[in-house]
Amino acid sequence: MPAIVLTYHSCNITGHEYSSNDHTALEHDLRTIDSQGFQIVSVQDAITSGLSGSTDSVVALTFDDGPIFDFEDFIHPQFGKQKSFARIMREFTHATGNKAIASSFVIASPSGRQQMDEKDYGGRDWWHDRWWLPATESGLIKIENHSWDHNHRAISVSAQKINQRGQFHNIDTHPECAIEVQKANTYISELVKRSPKFFAYPWGQASNYIYQDYMPNIASKFGLEAAFSTQPKAITPHANKWFLPRFVSGEHWKSTQDLQQLLGG
Ligand SMILES: [Zn+2]
Repeated sequence: MPAIVLTYHSCNITGHEYSSNDHTALEHDLRTIDSQGFQIVSVQDAITSGLSGSTDSVVALTFDDGPIFDFEDFIHPQFGKQKSFARIMREFTHATGNKAIASSFVIASPSGRQQMDEKDYGGRDWWHDRWWLPATESGLIKIENHSWDHNHRAISVSAQKINQRGQFHNIDTHPECAIEVQKANTYISELVKRSPKFFAYPWGQASNYIYQDYMPNIASKFGLEAAFSTQPKAITPHANKWFLPRFVSGEHWKSTQDLQQLLGG
């Protein structure tokens, strides 16, 4: 059986249902994962298991972009009280005795997060980084690297050489990677007192330069061990550790039935 990495976005809330709310989806999915005999493991263990060709059925949980909803309950202005991903994992662990853990891939740039918070979330301070250390210390969530600024459209000036935002394929030179990958790693390390080991390419997009050259030759020297695309596949011994596959909730599966199928049931 395969090693599977699943991805959720805690800011994906356009309703209460499974298909419109990643918090609802995660809560259901933990039960499905458990009932299909999969063990929830760290990202590191899922990679090791997949690359070694182990027959263990393992799932790693990853969360992208890093708003506080990963770790703190909150009141959505339209859809009301929402359980954080952390609470959902704690409740699952309490109910089943099986420990749920995850990794959050966060956007490092404080100004970038502030601009995204203002443009997309009404400036409610939902994208701060004060939750990163408590999350790390809780043992529930490890903080990993999702770039400096995501080369996101909501950010006025990004690391991209001609400020062309909205994709990550065009991050393809050393100076750009030095900001998007290394500067982000340094910032996160200082805040959580632990160096990120994994990188998730924004939108799953990677230039040939970043994953074939920068990651193996430079990023590996400051502590990164692997990077994730969003190719919807299990991790197998053939996978490239600088372009590992993972599935995205709402994109690659949209229901419990989809997830059961994805897990091979
Ligand atoms: Zn992202």
